[in-house]
Amino acid sequence: MANQFKEAINQLNKVARIMNLECDELEILRRPDRILEVSLPVLMDNGRMKVFTGYRVQYNNTRGPYKGGIRFHPQVNLDEVKTLAFWMTIKCAVADIPYGGGKGGIAVDTKTLSQGELERLTRAYARGFANFIGPKIDIPAPDVGTNPQIMAWLMDEYSHIKGENTPAVVTGKPVEVGGSLGRDTATGLGGFYVFEQVLSKLKLAKSKASLAVQGFGNVGMNFAMIAYRAGYKVAAVSDSRGGIYNAKGLNMEEVLAHKKTTGSVVDFKNSKNVTNEKLLELPVEVLAPSALENVINEKNAGRIKAKIILELANGPTAEAAEAKLCQNGILVVPDVLANAGGVIASYFEWVQNSRQYYWEQARMDNRLKDKVTSALKKVWQTMAARGDNKMRDAAYIVAVERLAASLRIRGI
Ligand code: NAD
Repeated sequence: MANQFKEAINQLNKVARIMNLECDELEILRRPDRILEVSLPVLMDNGRMKVFTGYRVQYNNTRGPYKGGIRFHPQVNLDEVKTLAFWMTIKCAVADIPYGGGKGGIAVDTKTLSQGELERLTRAYARGFANFIGPKIDIPAPDVGTNPQIMAWLMDEYSHIKGENTPAVVTGKPVEVGGSLGRDTATGLGGFYVFEQVLSKLKLAKSKASLAVQGFGNVGMNFAMIAYRAGYKVAAVSDSRGGIYNAKGLNMEEVLAHKKTTGSVVDFKNSKNVTNEKLLELPVEVLAPSALENVINEKNAGRIKAKIILELANGPTAEAAEAKLCQNGILVVPDVLANAGGVIASYFEWVQNSRQYYWEQARMDNRLKDKVTSALKKVWQTMAARGDNKMRDAAYIVAVERLAASLRIRGI
């Protein structure tokens, strides 16, 4: 989407007005520290050379090293990477972890690459940015289109260049090479902790909280399975091919098996196929968009029936839609809080790499719960003090206060 970054900065400006904050620190937060673009020549299997463009946006490092994923997707562009890097800056501040924000990407359709080409492209990315990343400088992680294997290649290439084993240069690695137990499910689990606490704040009974989850990848699938196994009714789920709905609830263990055998959730027995657009408008209590940006927009905002929108994807609600949703009494739990479990777990992985001391899964999950709970509590208190239901504004107020304080105290 064009001008996505402008929309993101509108949110910052809006919060600055609410906070009566007009200061030099804010001027710094309105733009990225550094934008990097490199050419990545890759030898393809047919013997020809293809040059890709790699991006890394280092948005702000006032609170700690730049931190953020790398996206491999055909639609990656600089405006999107800048936006995602800005959101990471806010998210790390909301979560109160010692990181700034960054993001990277390559415009590529990974489905068209062989495994060898994907590895060479990843190693080219590591070489292109080796002088700009590092455990105390900028720490990438997976995002859409990248995975633990890709992180392992990145770490390996970087370690060769630097001449020392450096697992802490990336997070989201496989456990065998310094990854953390629980990182793979952390975004869904963190989202689930947020979800349960929001229900308790709103005094909504578990039996009433039926769910629709759009997207069945790392985030959506893990969240849906965790919620189902905890006894919640999951009424609808979807992937890129479409969705399924059963008002009485889906048997998610069977849906998972169906997805594994057929490659999609669609055509699951005892359910009705629905489009991804229709799924958003179903009569459920909680809607968890967990796939794409801007799926809730001006056109469909008035038709959303859920009482709570849990933003597990980054940026699923367009700016124009949000005011309408809030007016209609719908609580939008913002991405910078709802999906912060991923970066919190990344932080724990980095701590373990730096100490070379590894935790068991229970310690990881408990600390994740603590961090997510404190973030939710702080944002909720801020929203309650303002007396409205605008949770994104509250989250941004928390983050901007922390960022502005660090900038002020450090002195630029
Ligand atoms: P993923 O690639 O693992 O999964 C994406 C899912 O979305 C897949 O099931 C895919 O089929 C589905 N999808 C694709 N196009 C769709 C469409 N048109 N309609 C409905 N579904 C569609 O990606 P992910 O890691 O689960 O990330 C999803 C979102 O969560 C992204 O916005 C990402 O930035 C955000 N996020 C991810 C993490 C993480 O730890 N993975 C952390 C924070 C935020």
